Amino acid sequence: MQRFVILMYHMISEPKTTAEIKYACPPKQFEQHLQMLLSSGFNPVSIKAIEDYYIHQTPLPDKAFLVTLDDGFEDNYRNAFPILKRHQIPAVIYLATGLIGKTNQWMTMPTFSECKMLSWMQIKKMASQGIDFGSHTVTHPKLNELDDDSVGRELVQSKKIIEEHLGVECKHFAYPYGLLTEKTPELVQQAGFKTACTTRSGFNNEERDPLMLHRIEVYGDDSTWKLKQKVIFGINDASWFFPLKYYWTRLFARLS
Ligand SMILES: [Zn+2]
Repeated sequence: MQRFVILMYHMISEPKTTAEIKYACPPKQFEQHLQMLLSSGFNPVSIKAIEDYYIHQTPLPDKAFLVTLDDGFEDNYRNAFPILKRHQIPAVIYLATGLIGKTNQWMTMPTFSECKMLSWMQIKKMASQGIDFGSHTVTHPKLNELDDDSVGRELVQSKKIIEEHLGVECKHFAYPYGLLTEKTPELVQQAGFKTACTTRSGFNNEERDPLMLHRIEVYGDDSTWKLKQKVIFGINDASWFFPLKYYWTRLFARLS
């Protein structure tokens, strides 16, 4: 059965605090990740290709991967965009629309530095050159803590404002913090979204609900070796021990 991976990044810049190491991938590292994937035979696809795969059963290339960037940090324009363009790799950026042109106000922990978020001008420029934009709500709330009406407002308003600014339908969504209830995917669908990304790890295939897509979280300090293990095994935490254990279990299963 055909399977593909979705990679989740946040900031593409040097981390400024220890807490940011997980979320901030230095640009050089980001480029090395992408180069490794390309030279290992992985094929970049867009979120549109994923949508077509689920809605029209359009096949994906083998070893397909999608790059996603959550939140809409300004460094996505400054640092990620030139690299993605250079390697002709499509990507989708999920925007918390109430924060556009502002700073990362929702990250209230003092362990995170203040970061600029994308402006509409930067978003429009990227949208005209191969980058897709999805919704990540208006205010980046924990959707599992809101009532249905409030969730609906977050979904519909963010979708509408992206469509007004970009002039194309906004069909893709990512759950803030990966938090949701059993009911949330239904509300996402009612708002008109076709795909939605969670933060659950693992591969996706035709049996996956497109409103519950799984992603591999790429940490800022992941080496190319580590990322390769992650995309081969479909896990977030690749240690030296894991591949050994994986092959050992398979060998053992074959012998017994
Ligand atoms: Zn987020």
